[in-house]
Amino acid sequence: MIEPRPDVALREGYHSPQVEVRVRLNTNESPEAPPAAWRDALVAAMADIDWNRYPDRSATTLRSAIGALHGVGPERVFVANGSNEVLQTVLLTFGGPGRSAAVWEPTYALHSHIARVTGTAVVEGERAADFSTDLDEVARVVRGSRPAVSFLCSPNNPTGVVDDADTVRAVLAMVAEIDGLLVVDEAYGQFAPWSALGLVDDDTPIVVTRTFSKTWSMAAARLGYLIGPAPLVAELDKVVLPYHLDAFKQLAGTLALAHTDAMDDRVRRLVAERERLVARLRTLDVDVWPSGANFVLFRPRSRAGAEVWSALVDRSVLVRNCASWPRLDGCLRVTIGTTDEDDQFLAALEEVIA
Ligand SMILES: *Cc1c(COP(=O)(O)O)cnc(C)c1O
Repeated sequence: MIEPRPDVALREGYHSPQVEVRVRLNTNESPEAPPAAWRDALVAAMADIDWNRYPDRSATTLRSAIGALHGVGPERVFVANGSNEVLQTVLLTFGGPGRSAAVWEPTYALHSHIARVTGTAVVEGERAADFSTDLDEVARVVRGSRPAVSFLCSPNNPTGVVDDADTVRAVLAMVAEIDGLLVVDEAYGQFAPWSALGLVDDDTPIVVTRTFSKTWSMAAARLGYLIGPAPLVAELDKVVLPYHLDAFKQLAGTLALAHTDAMDDRVRRLVAERERLVARLRTLDVDVWPSGANFVLFRPRSRAGAEVWSALVDRSVLVRNCASWPRLDGCLRVTIGTTDEDDQFLAALEEVIA
């Protein structure tokens, strides 16, 4: 039987273990369904889809609507099936054989995974002990390995740590020096105090990726995008498969953007809930990292993380088990849920580590 490409076969696929539980706080989804008015509008609009025709290949309406949200034209917007496909298209276009992508660990596992799948070599740097971006380390990796693509993730998954504006500007300057591209993954950008979106223009090698999966309560829709220089977006359009975004999804995204107020409101509530959860965690026997996202990383001090994870599952609470991940020894990551879900999590945790 034929074997897969050896560089792909060696790697495990990406999994987020799913277990049947009452309180699901492991994949950073929104705890709420999208607004009912959005769903009704989508169902009504579906009747007008020309199902026998290919969809608008350049998704102009959706791109214009996303562009309007960020104050840019559609030519600076690239849209795909989840921000993971956005990242894949970036790597297919600007990475690939003979090129490399830089990541600073610990960070989102998909950056290095997608790089490898696209035949892009991965260069790994380290974050500082508090998980912030270490500019000396960035300089070492960028100047030493000259990666085609460098990834920042802000807020970073799974640590929640936000890179400040000075840090992103400094990394961008180093990346520009070597004619590379800086990707800032802002999957959780709306939960953070600032965004790198303001750094994007047509002459600067930076793209900022966003997703409908988290803030927009639309993980099921698989829709993500980037804002970047128009000439670079034009290159991505050449590489991505024709008609990759189906007509239904284009509608779903466009109609969602009519509900930005409802979404902003959810973000505000989740941020307030995050601060409540962090304050409660700080009263317990755990280490807690400050988060600018819709999740919090913590480490039980008195019991092994993996044991705490299992004991939480026994109490029908599922969080992300990072305990065996490199550099995250004993750590668990909890997604901000509803007040009720978070209270159930806290009650279970107190019991488990008491
Ligand atoms: C969840 C997440 C994404 C989102 O991926 P989608 O494909 O848009 O669902 C991207 N980047 C990071 C860091 C994430 O945590």
